[in-house]
Amino acid sequence: MPVEIADHWFEIRHMGDDITLLWEPHVIPLMRCNIWHVRGRERDLMIDTGMGICSLREAARDLLDKPMIAVATHTHADHVGGHHEFDDCLVHAAEADNLQRPTERGTLVAQEIGPDKIRKLRIAGYEIGEALITALPHAGYDLSEYGVRPAKATRIVEEGSIVDTGDRRFEVLHLPGHSPGSIGLWEAATGTLFSGDAIYDGPLLDELPHSNIEDYVKTMRRLRTLPVRTVHAGHDPSFGRDRLIELVDAYLDRRAG
Ligand SMILES: [Zn+2]
Repeated sequence: MPVEIADHWFEIRHMGDDITLLWEPHVIPLMRCNIWHVRGRERDLMIDTGMGICSLREAARDLLDKPMIAVATHTHADHVGGHHEFDDCLVHAAEADNLQRPTERGTLVAQEIGPDKIRKLRIAGYEIGEALITALPHAGYDLSEYGVRPAKATRIVEEGSIVDTGDRRFEVLHLPGHSPGSIGLWEAATGTLFSGDAIYDGPLLDELPHSNIEDYVKTMRRLRTLPVRTVHAGHDPSFGRDRLIELVDAYLDRRAG
């Protein structure tokens, strides 16, 4: 179990285009979610909120100067851990209940994930040690304290819903497969897609408890037709359309023959 104490929990990088990436470097890659802050004229978006081990609101305080919508691309623990800190949370109808009453307790101890799931995650390509964090947020932190907290689902969306920041307009794409209520936010004007875990440049997970491979295949075919310029994903580095097509085709080769 980790003994090192982290001197800060979140890293922050400004990506241009009023988009800021926050992430948790001491969380193992499997659970290290990209947290995307998008500055708007009237309201900002925080797309996913990480594990909820330390306060995201506190870490991002310099960015938070107007109303904000905390978007859940889906409700896995590594994406909605910090949502309870925000009053206005957006989620797809299929996962609204799970945001408000999480069925997954969440854990930082690998053993508690269960041997079968751990085995599948390792086969998929993730390295998993004893703990899901490599440093403690503060001295004396007890890993068993950790749990996903309920958050308010104030904006329940579906395919085609519009998320408007005052000067930017995102369309909700329902992208099920990884989870039933996975969404992407698509800004047609700039060709920018915030994809959550529907697609990212790492081992894609389609065998989790609520995953559905048939839906995942349909989602991938749909993404292949999207005129994207930039994908800001739920994990791993951002990429462009050429890489999107490579990732989609590799997935379809594996799952759709
Ligand atoms: Zn996920």
